[in-house]
Amino acid sequence: MIIVMEPGASPAQQQSVVARLEREGFKVHLSRGVERTIIGAIGDKTRLRAETLAALPGVEKVVPILQPYKLAGRDFHPEDTVIPVGGLTVGGPQVQIIAGPCAVESREQLLEVAVAVREAGATMLRGGAYKPRSSPYSFQGLAARGLEFLAEARATTGLPVVTEVMDPALVPEVATVADVLQIGSRNMQNFTLLQAAGRTSKPILLKRGLSATIEEWLLAAEYILSEGNSQVVLCERGIRTFETYTRNTLDLGAVPAVKHLSHLPVVVDPSHGTGRKFMVAPMARAALAAGADGLMIEVHPNPQEALSDGPQSLTPEQFSCLVKEIQPLIAASGRELGRLA
Ligand code: PEP
Ligand code: MN
Repeated sequence: MIIVMEPGASPAQQQSVVARLEREGFKVHLSRGVERTIIGAIGDKTRLRAETLAALPGVEKVVPILQPYKLAGRDFHPEDTVIPVGGLTVGGPQVQIIAGPCAVESREQLLEVAVAVREAGATMLRGGAYKPRSSPYSFQGLAARGLEFLAEARATTGLPVVTEVMDPALVPEVATVADVLQIGSRNMQNFTLLQAAGRTSKPILLKRGLSATIEEWLLAAEYILSEGNSQVVLCERGIRTFETYTRNTLDLGAVPAVKHLSHLPVVVDPSHGTGRKFMVAPMARAALAAGADGLMIEVHPNPQEALSDGPQSLTPEQFSCLVKEIQPLIAASGRELGRLA
C-alpha cells in the first residue's frame, strides 16, 4: 500500500510511520517529493490494517497498490531508478550503448571487436559466453573460457561487461566477470534463475520474453526485485508476431508503456528486434526517440563468418556510423552519451 503523508508532516511523524511498518515486517520505500512524502509499503496487510495506519499522526491517506507488480511499478516508486554500472549510470540523463558480438568466439575476435566498439563510442561490451541456441547442434559458446576473454577485454578497454547467464547454478561464476548479468528472452520466465539473479548484487539486464506481455515482463522483474536486488534494466528485443520478414517485431510502443508503468530503465536491442542489419540503425534512432535509456547492438569483425547472428551483426565501421548518427538525437533529447573514465 501507499501511505501519503500530509504536506506539513514532520520528519518525526514520517519516521514513526516507517518504524511501525518495519516492525510489522513491511518492506518500505520512501519517496520525498517537494510537496509531500509518499511511503510505499509491501507486506502482509493482515498484520497492519490501512485504517490503523491512516489514524497515525501526519498521515493523509492510505491507498492500495493496484498494479500486480508492486516493486517494479511506479505506484510504489514514482521516481526513475538510476543504476550505476562501472562509473556509468543507466536510467538517468546518460544514454548507454552496449555493443559487441553475439557470442564470444575467440580471444582475438573479442579483443578486436571490443577495441573497435570502444573507439566508436560504445560504453559497455556485450558478448555471450553461454549461448541459448535454438538448436542443440549450433555453437553453444565458449563457457568459462569465454568469461576469461571478457574479463581480459574489460581490462584492455575499460568497458563494463554485459553477459548472459542461463543456469541458476552458474550465477556466482558468471557474476565474477559480469558487470551486468543478462537474462535472455528464452529464460524470462525461468523463475529459479530470476530468483538466483535477485540474490546477487549485480545489475540485471532482463530481456523481454519472445511472446511475453508487458505485464509478464514486469512480473519477471518483480521476481528479481523481490529477492532484494533493486537493479533491473529491462530490454525490449522484439516479440513474436505473424510477421516473418523481420526476425521479431520490435515493439517500440513498449518503451513509453513500460516507462509509464515502471520506474525501471529500458534499453532496446534492434539487432535481435529486426534480425536484419540494414534495419538496426533506423530502429536504434527510433528507440532513442521513443525514450529508451540505451541500446544493445551486435557487432562482429566479420559478420559473414560469425558463428551466430551474422545477418543482424554490424561491422565495426557500420557501428561507428550508427553512433555518429545518434549523437545529435541524444543531444536533442537533453541527454548525453555515457562517458567512461
Ligand atoms: C543475446 O542478446 O545474446 C540473445 C540471445 O538475445 P535474446 O535473449 O533477446 O534472444
Ligand atoms: Mn545474438
